[in-house]
Amino acid sequence: MNRMGRDFVSLKPRLSYAPPPLNGSMMTSLRLVLGDQLTRSLSALDGMDPAQDVVFMAEAAQETTYVPHHKQKIVLILSAMRHFAEELKSEGLRVHYVRLDDPANSGSFTGELARAIALHKPDRLIATEPGEWRVAQMMGEWSGQFGLPLEIREDDRFFCSRGRFARWADERKSYRMEFFYREMRRETGLLMQGDKPEGGEWNFDKENRKALPARLAPPKRQRFEPDAITREVMALVGERFAHHFGDLAPFGWAVTRADALEALDHFISACLPLYGDYQDAMKVGEPFLYHSIISPYLNCGLLTAREVCMAAERAFRTGHAPLNAVEGFIRQILGWREYVRGIYWRHMPDYADTNALDAHRPLPEFFWTGDTRMNCVSQVVGETRQNAYAHHIQRLMITGNFALLAGLEPRAVEEWYLAVYIDAFDWVELPNTHGMVLFADGGLLASKPYAASGAYINRMSDYCGGCAYDVKEKSGAKACPFNILYWHFLIENHARLAGNPRMAMPYRTLEKMSAERRAEITREALAFLEGGDKPQKAGQFALDL
Ligand code: FAD
Ligand code: SF4
Repeated sequence: MNRMGRDFVSLKPRLSYAPPPLNGSMMTSLRLVLGDQLTRSLSALDGMDPAQDVVFMAEAAQETTYVPHHKQKIVLILSAMRHFAEELKSEGLRVHYVRLDDPANSGSFTGELARAIALHKPDRLIATEPGEWRVAQMMGEWSGQFGLPLEIREDDRFFCSRGRFARWADERKSYRMEFFYREMRRETGLLMQGDKPEGGEWNFDKENRKALPARLAPPKRQRFEPDAITREVMALVGERFAHHFGDLAPFGWAVTRADALEALDHFISACLPLYGDYQDAMKVGEPFLYHSIISPYLNCGLLTAREVCMAAERAFRTGHAPLNAVEGFIRQILGWREYVRGIYWRHMPDYADTNALDAHRPLPEFFWTGDTRMNCVSQVVGETRQNAYAHHIQRLMITGNFALLAGLEPRAVEEWYLAVYIDAFDWVELPNTHGMVLFADGGLLASKPYAASGAYINRMSDYCGGCAYDVKEKSGAKACPFNILYWHFLIENHARLAGNPRMAMPYRTLEKMSAERRAEITREALAFLEGGDKPQKAGQFALDL
């Protein structure tokens, strides 16, 4: 399904603000700040001369429509950009800011840069390396296009530079996150006692797989009331992106560094102690549980990975949070976040083109509507529409697991994840979806596919109790689709996966199944995939076998 953007009715246009050009003889630099670079210590802003230099920021239509981004995601980025520009101006810096609804806005970042260069006549451009391959390609053309030197500085908001990751990867045939993470722990000294890991272990994951007890109520999460700037952006998004996925309101995300820091404080004080225990749990009506919900702030630059990890470590050192929670949390950022970025930059652009499991089924409509009888999928899509957020296990083991088992086309699934989550940027979304969820990279990122039947979902959530399907049933009209699709996935991918040592156990079980049972699985799975999950009519179930 193509949900790419169109052109739209516009709100009453406003003027962007551009400082008057300078005519002095000193060197003038145009300092570029992208929508995911809203960090005051950004390398592109380093050594800025307030008297000569100009910061350039532009809201480009091109960036808002290449996938049908969730409305809250567009609001977050545009509002955070506008707040950041205001903060720079209040420091006395000169900011050339182009708004989306400026009638002169050409719609492309390059077009707006050309206009800014014509106005300010800078001697050079200074940028921080972009997060995405697509933007790096665009940036690569600017120097020649504008006849100006372009200095691209390292993005030192990450612990591990691209060069550092390449050196680590060069030394090995296959790379695994766990070993990368240990090196990062040693290098940063986070949760270390000399050269030994705190508590004698690198990883406390085995303590972090508890289901949520029925009586435990997770803390209420903070919301930030939209201010005048955010309300103005919401009105713009409501008109211009009405057809995009997701609910616009209520919008409660932080759009300034001060509020993002408050959200971090609240997570550390109220949620971190139980973060580890219930990291993998899922519960109807509890979209956030004990998760940090800071990924959008980290990814657009309102918070830095370093300060977040240090705040978590402090909570451990002061006895506020246990080691299993703090180690589990720091591993997500120092380990997974840095690792997926390393993989992305090392393997792009070819990384996105592989399809190791030869998966080609189209994305079902219910990924957008939530209209399915599978309660787990319906709950996760519903929460995603409402909040632009789902936690990791919901993304990996519900929608992701379904996409893997059903053999959905990687590109369509990747476009979906990129569109629907508020924290979604290509460099982090792509390896998670392409590698971790879909195994489309053939095992570069993960050593085996994260495939699971309904039993896993039942163990970690309360979804199954309210489902039209029966998680205990393995075949027939009421059988949980994950049970049927799981075995069908193993049958369909026998030639590709049976030799994987980590898949030995399920393949041994499959081999013990009779030929009739396998034929039954294939028949039921194909019936389901060909449209079996019909909305329920009284007394009738979806699979009509
Ligand atoms: P917490 O559980 O509180 O974790 C703390 C932080 O660790 C997160 O804020 C995030 O910065 C980092 N983190 C955790 N897991 C990962 C991971 N696997 N990869 C990278 N960083 C991680 N994360 C994104 O930031 N952007 C994405 O576009 C994105 N797409 C994903 C797509 C799929 C299919 C999957 C399975 C995961 C994806 N993730 C993505 C990773 C993860 O799901 C989110 O970072 C997390 O759910 C954000 O919620 P949180 O801040 O409450 O995380
Ligand atoms: Fe999901 Fe199956 Fe449980 Fe229904 S029974 S909620 S489809 S796992």
